[in-house]
Amino acid sequence: MNDITHGDSSIKSRLLDFFFPNRCPFCGGFISFDRLCCEQCFSEIMWADEYICRRCGKPVRPECDCKAPHSYSLCASAAYYSGNVKDGIYSLKFKNNLNSAIIFGRALRDMLDEMGVLYDIDITVPVPMSPKQQRMRGYNQAEEIAKAIVKGTDIPVRTDLIRRRFSKTAQHDLSRDERHTAAHKNYYTDIHGTPLSGMTVLLADDVLTTGATLNACSELLTALGAECVICAAAATV
Ligand SMILES: [Zn+2]
Ligand SMILES: [Zn+2]
Repeated sequence: MNDITHGDSSIKSRLLDFFFPNRCPFCGGFISFDRLCCEQCFSEIMWADEYICRRCGKPVRPECDCKAPHSYSLCASAAYYSGNVKDGIYSLKFKNNLNSAIIFGRALRDMLDEMGVLYDIDITVPVPMSPKQQRMRGYNQAEEIAKAIVKGTDIPVRTDLIRRRFSKTAQHDLSRDERHTAAHKNYYTDIHGTPLSGMTVLLADDVLTTGATLNACSELLTALGAECVICAAAATV
């Protein structure tokens, strides 16, 4: 993963750049319309290394989360939620800058390929936002990451399977146990039966913290028949 070009040099993207100049999602500096970030920031990203567990997706120091029960089989995390990665996620969530979704999505695709599971995936499901939150933001950052992961493959992105209720309390204000309970209340499905029977599902999110969200969503996917749920997070805490 060392290509930081956008891959889109259409007239539309040049024109858009004229009105909405492209910015590096990490430092905010202006960059060429066909770039995703600046070279300096790219070189400073704290990419995942061997000290991130591929089973639970959390750093192994001082201890990963594998002792806790998980409803997913594997988790790829692209980077540490640290340094400029925090800025990249912030601009993805709050500044309409989708460049880091592409950067982390591509890295996740490479990781899943390396792990030998990319071509086992039947469908990709982003962790949903509530309809109200998504209307306010204009997009769901997890969906943008999901789209970047599967770009160039024929794996579909499905946003109709799991849904999120609107909740005023942000997950980060809650304790670990509270997050677990809230996550189970917040996510639901209105699909009946087991349409995912026998499928391997990729569940994508932006930041992995306690894993409560990924566990709640992957339980729902399993209840819909999924045989295996693999998670992918742009960054891990
Ligand atoms: Zn930069
Ligand atoms: Zn682990």
